Amino acid sequence: MKTQKTPDKKTETCKYIFVIGGVISGVGKGVAASSIARILQDRGKTVTALKIDPYINIDAGTMNPTEHGEVFVLDDGYECDQDMGNYERFLNINLSKINYMTTGVVYQSVIDKERNLEYAGKCVEVVPHIPMEVIRRIETARDNAKANVVVIEIGGTVGEYQNMLFLEAARMMKIKYNRDVFFVMVSYLPIPSKIGEMKTKPTQYAVRTLNASGIQPDIIIARSKQSIDGPRKEKISMFCNIPTDRVISAPDVESIYDIPINFEKEGLGDMICDVVDMTCGPAFGKSAKEWQKFAGSTHSPKEEVHIAIIGKYFNTGDFTLSDSYLSVIEAIKYSAYALHRKPVITWLSSVDFEKDPKKIKSLSKYDGILVPGGFGSRGIEGKIKAIEYARKNNIPYFGLCYGMQLMVVEYARNVLGLKDANTREINPKSKNLIIDVMEDQKDKIKNKKLGGTMRLGAYPATLLKDSVAANAYRAKNISERHRHRYEVNNAYREDLEKAGLVFSGVSPDGHLAEIAELPNSKHPFFLGTQFHPEFKARPLSPHPLFSAFVKACIKSNKK
Ligand code: GLN
Repeated sequence: MKTQKTPDKKTETCKYIFVIGGVISGVGKGVAASSIARILQDRGKTVTALKIDPYINIDAGTMNPTEHGEVFVLDDGYECDQDMGNYERFLNINLSKINYMTTGVVYQSVIDKERNLEYAGKCVEVVPHIPMEVIRRIETARDNAKANVVVIEIGGTVGEYQNMLFLEAARMMKIKYNRDVFFVMVSYLPIPSKIGEMKTKPTQYAVRTLNASGIQPDIIIARSKQSIDGPRKEKISMFCNIPTDRVISAPDVESIYDIPINFEKEGLGDMICDVVDMTCGPAFGKSAKEWQKFAGSTHSPKEEVHIAIIGKYFNTGDFTLSDSYLSVIEAIKYSAYALHRKPVITWLSSVDFEKDPKKIKSLSKYDGILVPGGFGSRGIEGKIKAIEYARKNNIPYFGLCYGMQLMVVEYARNVLGLKDANTREINPKSKNLIIDVMEDQKDKIKNKKLGGTMRLGAYPATLLKDSVAANAYRAKNISERHRHRYEVNNAYREDLEKAGLVFSGVSPDGHLAEIAELPNSKHPFFLGTQFHPEFKARPLSPHPLFSAFVKACIKSNKK
């Protein structure tokens, strides 16, 4: 029976490292998991990474970015948690749908299999069938990547009801199926201000709770404001059943890119290779040096480049704000660092430009303006005003998805003179629907089939020779990731082109506008993409369009 195929004796040498969070969420478990994966990859291992989220949601596409953070999109179109972006960026690999699962996805597969009689008349139970489906997915991800190390991050914190079945899957993998399974607990050590001392008790409790699930951590990563000292390492060792040297200090750092390097310096790489009994290459080999060079570049730039991001998903404070547009920020950073600049990113709410139109002039102090992806009507007119300001004042402008659609609307309104130009998403009654719904989306919207049904994932595009886009990519054919329901209305393309806008990237059949731009002779940089280039920007290979944008910003530098 397919679902039961997991062998119960050791037949392979793959190592499975589960990363589990203790005490509180938000301590950088995802970055810790990515960093562990990275240092093992640097030591010559073929590594893949999975994230398990406890939600019932089938994907992250239906979650609000202000609550859950950015929705990351994979090549295969799967809408997932932003941690998947961290894995792709740290490991410089492309992941797929199988590398991400939620409670909802796992239950749905089990129920589908039950309906298909795949359980051969057996009573299907929460345990073992749900954990077994989790294990099957982990193994499929391993096979797809031909990995010899699989890093699996279990979302949530130890002690939560929601992730218990995932811990059970990990336990079963180790005990029942005799796999080489190891546990890293990323814990948090508070330093209460009134006491002024780093406290280990919450970690002790977290480990005991984990023990109750039949799991003993092999390594504890001690996240805190500062480094953990000897006496506290001893305490954790004593009460958490772990040798002192298996407690790894992980103080707050300025740059997340330093974390793999700090882990190596703390001896984590050697320790993991030893604990999991695996022959690994040396620390700080050739590929680690490339990472070190990149991490070093994030500290040194003296000159700044000032970029304003105009969005709306940041009304719950700074912390959420940066998470909503995580990949965009990362993409800007990689290009800025590669160009030896410190990126200074300012968040502006487009709603403010609507409330106080005079505020638009404040945009003059930025070297560049970016409007990222988005949905719905709030703040739209403010975004259009900002785009108009950038166009008229020769400020480099980069529009991503919605930012491209609104750029075309702005051009239609103010250059073509179609005053009521709009996108159907905002005003279906407009006579000039410059951006219209894609044909295959009509039924989906009508029948409210809205989850996972946009035009999602990687699609190819062909670039126009000598355009700004083609010069940036230095290529004719590209592939980029998408997430949209609306598109440039072809009925207006000719008029827009006559008025000077260039569609420099189109789908191979020419039907879909993928990139709109003004030529260099007319504007220093005025370009929008229907796709999301930010999802493919990597620390060690910055995205060509972001680099072209940041270059233009540097050139236009006003300070
Ligand atoms: N709301 C627009 C659409 O669905 C743009 C989407 C986006 O920016 N990701 O087409």
